[in-house]
Amino acid sequence: LSALLENEQDLPSVTPDNHSMTLMVNTGLAVDTGASLKSRIGGVGLYRTEVPFMITERFPGEQEQMRMYREQLESFAPLPVVMRTLDIGGDKDLPYFPIEEANPFLGWRGIRVTLDHPEVLMVQVRAMLRASQGLDNLQILLPMVSNVEEVDDALRLINRAIDELGEEGLDVSRPLIGVMIEVPATLYQLEALSRRVDFFSVGSNDLTQYLLAVDRNNPRVAELYDSCHPAVLLALYQLAVESQRLGVPTSVCGELAGDPAGALLLMGMGFQTLSMNVPSLSRVRAAIRRVSFKAATELLKETLALDSPKEVRNHLNLRLKGWK
Ligand code: PEP
Ligand code: MG
Repeated sequence: LSALLENEQDLPSVTPDNHSMTLMVNTGLAVDTGASLKSRIGGVGLYRTEVPFMITERFPGEQEQMRMYREQLESFAPLPVVMRTLDIGGDKDLPYFPIEEANPFLGWRGIRVTLDHPEVLMVQVRAMLRASQGLDNLQILLPMVSNVEEVDDALRLINRAIDELGEEGLDVSRPLIGVMIEVPATLYQLEALSRRVDFFSVGSNDLTQYLLAVDRNNPRVAELYDSCHPAVLLALYQLAVESQRLGVPTSVCGELAGDPAGALLLMGMGFQTLSMNVPSLSRVRAAIRRVSFKAATELLKETLALDSPKEVRNHLNLRLKGWK
């Protein structure tokens, strides 16, 4: 089967009834950035900047960060690269910046940390903007947003970085800026957020964790953690409809997007851009090429009528058995 899928990897991700999807990749450390990957994707939907930070011995300086970011942006140019600002805290600790808390996933995490340390955010954003000079394929994504004030504060800092670089004689353009939709509160503030930013990126991993109140890494409750919980699917569906109504480009970059059944459900909801780990690409592409958009919307409709995660899983397995 995988040999079969390999053969398809250069074919477009289009359904039999001609509905086109954009597949992007999630990166952190070096991935296969060869020309072959580039021709098969729409860009990088999520570059997790905390990953390279985890293997250094201290916060990398502006010059060092600029080199890392330049390498990513250059490898994928002219395709867009969505760089997320540092998302530490929760399960991701830097050895040189330990955070000890009783409830790390509800604590000092993502944008909360970097707004408390604006110098960290400023260095990072300056490095990104400098790295993008002449390429202009940078987009900046803000993680763990739970409040519009965080967005306003971050935008102020990004604007300040742009002004500073301008004063230093560099010609930097303003990148597109987006917010991660991963804290349930943001689902109810999409309109307010849409007035502030250019795009949304749905973090289905954290959205699942926070909607279900299940620690995504705790084996004791692992069975309760399921992005196919009907409540999560309904939230995602409403989000797809609402972001379309608002005209905000919205992609999904959590694990659900890299799961063929999940990808079909997301397609049925109306999401057109999915970002996933490189190894998931061929299976998701194959699913899209085999299942019509019409069938995906029907699958979604059937699924949304079910009451429990288990029923959803069983139903998906049954319906998709043919090509899985
Ligand atoms: C997510 O939460 O779904 C996501 C993509 O971000 P991370 O897994 O890095 O928290
Ligand atoms: Mg997340």
